[in-house]
Amino acid sequence: MTSGKSKKSLHLGILGYPLGYSLSPLMHTAAFEALKAKGISGSYNEFPVPPEALDSWLDGVSSLGLDGFNVTIPYKEKLFSWVKANGKIKYPHEEWIGAINTVRIENGQWEGSNTDAPGFLDVLSQIDIRHRVGKVPLRKRRVVLLGAGGAARAVAFALIWHARIGELVIWNRNRLRSEGLAENLVRLCGEGAGRECEIRVQDDLSEADLDEATLLVNTAPVSDELLVDPEALGPGLVVYDLVYHPAWTALLKAADRRHCKIISGLEMLASQAALSFDIWSKGMAGNVRPVMIDVLKTRIKDQWPQ
Ligand code: NAP
Repeated sequence: MTSGKSKKSLHLGILGYPLGYSLSPLMHTAAFEALKAKGISGSYNEFPVPPEALDSWLDGVSSLGLDGFNVTIPYKEKLFSWVKANGKIKYPHEEWIGAINTVRIENGQWEGSNTDAPGFLDVLSQIDIRHRVGKVPLRKRRVVLLGAGGAARAVAFALIWHARIGELVIWNRNRLRSEGLAENLVRLCGEGAGRECEIRVQDDLSEADLDEATLLVNTAPVSDELLVDPEALGPGLVVYDLVYHPAWTALLKAADRRHCKIISGLEMLASQAALSFDIWSKGMAGNVRPVMIDVLKTRIKDQWPQ
């Protein structure tokens, strides 16, 4: 890629291990198909690299001639450290998340970003889903977060830093981990950038915890088990499950039965992918999210949660 100018043929891919389940090739290939008329073409390949081979893959990656790639489980944190040491992180304030899912390579220079955080919010700001959620108001509101791993970190950052929520209640199987996340979030708020959020760690979520919440977000990779009492889910609650395999998770099914507003992780999957594509194409491709949603819906068929 020559600096300043956008290239019209992009060589992209996804790094992770294992990769058999990934829907990213499907979405990005559909974007290239739809962009033919604009003269934008390219490829999106899978790089299933086992942990013991990651260092040598990184050493030899320049020979692949990539313009960029996505990073998924289990390498988001490792690639953050690698890019921070050997390139740059696009938005320094995102360094707090400590993980990246997008790498752009231009003239041998690596730039890392995290599109999970803005992708998560993108859905809440524009989605037209069942029961017509429209834009979910988050400023000064209470959010309940299940899980305290990498995705929870990105979600918590987005909610506090960008959406400026007023209260975050964190539940995690391992309390030490949720306490660690809470401590880091208190430090984030303490940076004095006007982010004021009360952060609480809960061992058990009561009806009262969920009663005044605007949003419940699940980031624990549990699709067939309920981590909250379904009776505590009220009709005013928006329930957003990052887990999307299978698309109808036990949480979304329970929330739907309780007449909550539901959001599938497939929506976020498309948003984070479209934002990555935007980074690689330097905005030249326009918004490819609708194309990505269409191809996902074609794949998922009538199992799409709505
Ligand atoms: P992670 O860093 O491994 O964290 C997993 C978290 O879930 C930890 O807090 C862990 O708790 C908890 N957990 C794991 N198994 C559990 C169980 N059986 N019961 C209760 N809690 C459990 O993983 P991650 O990167 O955060 O990813 C989490 C999920 O989000 C994955 O399914 C991933 O595919 C999904 N995700 C979706 C999108 C999207 O676009 N839709 C984007 C990013 C991630 P402990 O601390 O107790 O181990």
